[in-house]
Amino acid sequence: MTKEISHFIGGKLVAGSRRKAPVYNPATGEVAAEVALASTDEVRAAVATAKAVAPKWGATTPLRRARILNKFLHILEERIDDLAAVITAEHGKVLSDAKGEIQRGMEVVEFATSAPQLLKGEVTENVGTRVDSHSLRQPLGIVAGITPFNFPVMVPMWMFPVALACGNCFILKPSERDPSASLLLAAWLKEAGLPDGVFTVLQGDKEAVDAILTDPDISAVSFVGSTPIAQYIYETASRNKKRCQALGGAKNHMIIMPDADMNQAVDALMGAAYGAAGERCMAISVAVPVGEQTAEALMAKLEPRVRSLKIGPGTDPDAEMGPLVTKQHLDKVRGYIDTGVAEGATLVVDGRGFAMQGYENGYFLGGTLFDNVTSDMKIYKEEIFGPVLAVARVPDYDTAARMINEHQFGNGTAIFTRDGDAAREFAHQIQVGMVGINVPIPVPMAFHSFGGWKDSLFGDHHMHGPEGVRFYTKLKTITTRWPTGVRSGADFVMPTMR
Ligand code: NAD
Repeated sequence: MTKEISHFIGGKLVAGSRRKAPVYNPATGEVAAEVALASTDEVRAAVATAKAVAPKWGATTPLRRARILNKFLHILEERIDDLAAVITAEHGKVLSDAKGEIQRGMEVVEFATSAPQLLKGEVTENVGTRVDSHSLRQPLGIVAGITPFNFPVMVPMWMFPVALACGNCFILKPSERDPSASLLLAAWLKEAGLPDGVFTVLQGDKEAVDAILTDPDISAVSFVGSTPIAQYIYETASRNKKRCQALGGAKNHMIIMPDADMNQAVDALMGAAYGAAGERCMAISVAVPVGEQTAEALMAKLEPRVRSLKIGPGTDPDAEMGPLVTKQHLDKVRGYIDTGVAEGATLVVDGRGFAMQGYENGYFLGGTLFDNVTSDMKIYKEEIFGPVLAVARVPDYDTAARMINEHQFGNGTAIFTRDGDAAREFAHQIQVGMVGINVPIPVPMAFHSFGGWKDSLFGDHHMHGPEGVRFYTKLKTITTRWPTGVRSGADFVMPTMR
């Protein structure tokens, strides 16, 4: 019998009542399980369960909430290998990378354990004579997170540790392509002492998402995924009077200046372009060498490295890159390689012929490298989300910066140089949310906030860090006068402080 991946509602696993979808092992192509797809009625019932406990959880002291998160952190530390194995089995990424994403998620839990500090308000004594004012942040109530396949643990953990620390109930709708990790997270939160109903997992697809977006009892929605869906989520959530942050797709450029340390730049590019088979929103998918000499030196070092990438199932400790997530996604990425050839880009390394002995039905694709890519090509404009690196040669820095600034996406970018002036200018004027100077994947630490610009983010708040606390709380400002002051009589004009 096929294993069923269920929901987690009211502190226990709840089987789905209707539609189901297959979940594959990307290394073998076999169906590993079936995931339940929540109906609108199931979403409404789960939200009602959360609603019943929301006031009590919101009134729980921040210190107690922080202690639960602290216990959860210790459980994650102890069982990181179990969680990584679950990620690899459904996503396909190599185990070391799966552990890396859990560690980055744990940093957000660590950040959230300082809830009492994060939720401290502000006070001004004597805003008027014997009048004081203070501001505080209160939970929103029930909030939801809708997450993508590529980080089944880290992306939910950008959201729920901060949301819970701030006193909210959280409803997670994970990707239906790798849904199992969410259930381990739910079970371990319960084990850490989180009251039943505070954390819910609803498996599902568009029907569950639409039910979340229209549910009157959900106050805010966090989303991470592709840009068209991010825009849809933002517009629908806003129309339904919800606060929304919706992070979308990316096309991240790395400029290589003529003075860059080429060995360092190539090492950085290999990891950033081909790590996790390019299925990262912060992957570098365009390398921009400045000047012909830089381009020639880069290609000479890059090509043999791409040819010798070690590809294998995620469980192989020697593999640097695993398979893509689904057959459908593999076909899409292969289609982009066909398009690049048709558009006239130079295909230097072609991953389409790659076959993995013993894993013939897995969704493997070899590392692919294009040279002479130009900004009018589809393979330059669109997000491919696979192990395909485009090299776009430019004559000077200004052309490189203009390309980045004119691109639809603005998630991450990097420059490799020894020139402090060039680096400073780049950091200052580039129209991208996260910038690396000799750092290829500049993912901010948990105590800063993560988010892109342009079509990489719809909404006002980035995720985790101080922006996360602001997103998951509402501000209240209280002005106080005690009746020992001088009586001034009724005032019919706009109150001013005297
Ligand atoms: P996706 O947009 O297909 O799915 C994301 C979520 O939306 C899933 O939970 C899915 O069930 C749901 N969904 C899909 N189609 C829907 C629809 N029509 N209506 C309502 N909900 C729908 O994204 P994905 O393929 O899972 O993830 C890859 C994408 O995520 C890439 O574009 C990548 O750049 C992006 N991403 C962005 C960031 C970031 O920080 N900006 C981080 C990770 C991933």
